[in-house]
Amino acid sequence: MGKNHIEIWEDCLKVISDNINYQSYKTWFTPIKPLKLENSILTIQVPSQFFYEWLEEHYINLLKKTIKKELGPNGRLEYSMVIDSAVNTNKPYTIKVPTTNKNATKNPSVSMPIDINNGSSKDIPNPFVIPGLKKIKVQSQLIDAYSFENFIEGDCNRLARSAGFAVASKPGKTAFNPLLLYSNVGLGKTHLAHAIGIQSKINFPEKTVLYVSTEQFLHQFIDSVRNNNQNDFVHFYKMIDVLIIDDIQFLSGKEKTQSIFFHIFNHLHQTGKQLIITSDKPPVEMIGMETRLLSRFKWGLAADLQAPDLETRIAILHKRLYNDGIEMPPEVIEYLAYSITTNVRELEGALISILAQSSLNKKAITLDLAKQMIDKFVKNTSREISIDYIQKVVCDYFNLPLDLINSKTRKREIVQARQLAMFFSKKHTKSSLATIGLHCGNKDHATVLHACRTVNNLVETDKQFRVYVEDLEKKIKI
Ligand code: ADP
Ligand code: MG
Repeated sequence: MGKNHIEIWEDCLKVISDNINYQSYKTWFTPIKPLKLENSILTIQVPSQFFYEWLEEHYINLLKKTIKKELGPNGRLEYSMVIDSAVNTNKPYTIKVPTTNKNATKNPSVSMPIDINNGSSKDIPNPFVIPGLKKIKVQSQLIDAYSFENFIEGDCNRLARSAGFAVASKPGKTAFNPLLLYSNVGLGKTHLAHAIGIQSKINFPEKTVLYVSTEQFLHQFIDSVRNNNQNDFVHFYKMIDVLIIDDIQFLSGKEKTQSIFFHIFNHLHQTGKQLIITSDKPPVEMIGMETRLLSRFKWGLAADLQAPDLETRIAILHKRLYNDGIEMPPEVIEYLAYSITTNVRELEGALISILAQSSLNKKAITLDLAKQMIDKFVKNTSREISIDYIQKVVCDYFNLPLDLINSKTRKREIVQARQLAMFFSKKHTKSSLATIGLHCGNKDHATVLHACRTVNNLVETDKQFRVYVEDLEKKIKI
């Protein structure tokens, strides 16, 4: 007995896979299903008209040769096609197309417009850009571990998280469009953005979700300019249902890319598609960004992520350990969470260092080991803040010579700078009021206390002064 259609097609696939590269094989041949074999005619099912045309245009010779090899000189191939669901029927319908048909409709040939996979797939012409094509297969670039399940909720992220969750349950249909997530580094923007993408995909598998970093977007755009296929670039992005762009601040000063992004943004927004954007600052503080783009960002919701409080930090560590199946004494976890306060990435880094130390040196994870490690870690990552350092930041900020702060002068701006230095020293160092006074112009502890009160009062009543304090706070913490 001869082989059936499935076995014949398997044999054909072996030949084909030996003759073309893996990506092309995966893209164009794995979705094909063999349907039947009758009178040396093998019928295969392809997902769409477009697919059929592509095969005919690019792989006809290979297919013909392979069929003849497997089925003999009379061997023929026929296609059965699943009509694009956009045409409103799910029934596959069959058209008989002998492989010898030379008049198959040709698509305009398109060159690879963008290279999502960073060079690894240069040789596959991207099929996604054919206008009118409804079914597209785009690599989402989502990282599974960055799920909602793994994203710990706390006061610090409640609004952003629940807005993200709402967006994922109705992409493009909530008022949160675009959803802009902003925060300092290491506080979970990228994680949450992925989580929204993953959840959208779970809720709506048919939607096309794409995560790109702004850098990737920029490079793709530059490539498209170089290759003269900007239209393809734009086209590609216009086909996305849920577009996540991470770290949009990298577009600042890039006028051309901003303007193409503006165009894509408008198209997606108008057609009810969802945009999720992350940034290291709120729209009002973005510099080098076109105003029309900034005004678009304000259409939806801008939600910030704050540094997590102690409980949330502990919960994040617990989750990490639980996921990795590792146990750690609670006092070590607490010590870790207590010591690293401003950045979740650093917190995770410290956890990994402790685990590495303990397993490399075969030492149990004890509080002592954690203390040794973390002291190094904290010193390495965040500069220790000293009174001298604070004085320097304050003087630089107001453009004053450092020694004036320690002089006896009572000029208003010097007094103010001195009071600010005292206030921040009290806040960020463990020094006593007396020590701070001694270092700031040889004053006593009462003067330092008075300075702290004055600063607190002025922050409440004087807008300009509040800006100084906020700016300085940021500078001191860098
Ligand atoms: P950002 O993009 O704001 O710089 P990331 O999203 O890269 O920050 O987060 C840094 C690390 O901290 C990631 O490993 C992320 O999983 C983790 N992380 C941040 N926030 C949370 C959270 N709320 N729950 C769990 N993990 C978090
Ligand atoms: Mg990030």
